Amino acid sequence: MSRAPVRVSRRCGKRPIRVSFEFFPPKTDDAEAALWDSIHRLAPLGPDFVSVTYGAGGTTRERTQSTVTRLVRETALLPAAHLTCVGASRAEVDAVVRDYAAAGVRHIVALRGDPPGGVGAHYAAHPEGYQSTAELVRGVREAGDFEVFVSAYPERHPESPSLQHDLDVLQAKVDAGATRAITQFFFDNDVYFRFLDKVRSRGIDIPIVPGIVPVQNFRQTAGFAARCGASVPAWLADRFEGLDDDPATRRLIAAAVAAEQVIDLLDRGVRDFHFYTMNRADLVYAICHLLGMRPQAEADHAGDEPLPMAAQ
Ligand code: FAD
Repeated sequence: MSRAPVRVSRRCGKRPIRVSFEFFPPKTDDAEAALWDSIHRLAPLGPDFVSVTYGAGGTTRERTQSTVTRLVRETALLPAAHLTCVGASRAEVDAVVRDYAAAGVRHIVALRGDPPGGVGAHYAAHPEGYQSTAELVRGVREAGDFEVFVSAYPERHPESPSLQHDLDVLQAKVDAGATRAITQFFFDNDVYFRFLDKVRSRGIDIPIVPGIVPVQNFRQTAGFAARCGASVPAWLADRFEGLDDDPATRRLIAAAVAAEQVIDLLDRGVRDFHFYTMNRADLVYAICHLLGMRPQAEADHAGDEPLPMAAQ
């Protein structure tokens, strides 16, 4: 079994920078190989945790579980398993949680999930299932020694009547035991800071970690953003204009755009970053390098502080 041989020492001034990486479970042997190549490339950066998504409607349940348990068995990384309550009874969800506990998993990203019809379709909770994410958070906390992370939506969830309602939902998840929120991706950092102000005024003090999506393919990202309620600023569209058939230049622009975003967040005091990797390591690795992260011997990491429970 190979344990990640090196860890990272990364500091900005006196404060450490912390990153986490999100992957999705692979569907084919080739995709599986690509995923593990990415994991092995990023592991020496010493992420605080790596998370594995749960397919819409629970469709990747087995693949998510096998990826997470392989992470436990074969790496020194701390895995966080995404888990949704859509289309499943409470007993079914609880069985997954028990399996994770038995496998040594201690971190769950608890989510409602999108309706089987996709984003925007009518959502109905399973009659015997968890009726809300807050209920799921409570269920996971009661099931074992888990730390539970949840989502947050700086630009409002598409189903939400208002940002205020989103804050009520976030508050309920925190009251149920969530200790960290990861945001939906955004491109305008002011949106994040305005949201953070509202969260803090509300008295919610858990870390609200920005979710960063490096734009691998602008058209795809813009389409996805439209469905999940994230705005795409005109300046971003301008930067990718005319590059549909020029992947090499697109990649350079993508790196520049993501670097600009994270460096601005860093300059404004953010120290925790969650990267939606899309199972590709190169852009994320480059951005982490820009954040000052370097792979170093494990011994160098020994003095780093544990996951912060204090506010971002
Ligand atoms: P919640 O936090 O429960 O709700 C989000 C908002 O939606 C609420 O603030 C509320 O305003 C509104 N809302 C929720 N329910 C209702 C309702 N019944 N009526 C009206 N408004 C309502 N999806 C997956 O399938 N698998 C994943 O692995 C996954 N990982 C994600 C990771 C992150 C960091 C994020 C931000 C999202 C992820 N999603 C994932 C997407 C998520 O499941 C969807 O956005 C889903 O629609 C909401 O789930 P949630 O837990 O964020 O919802």
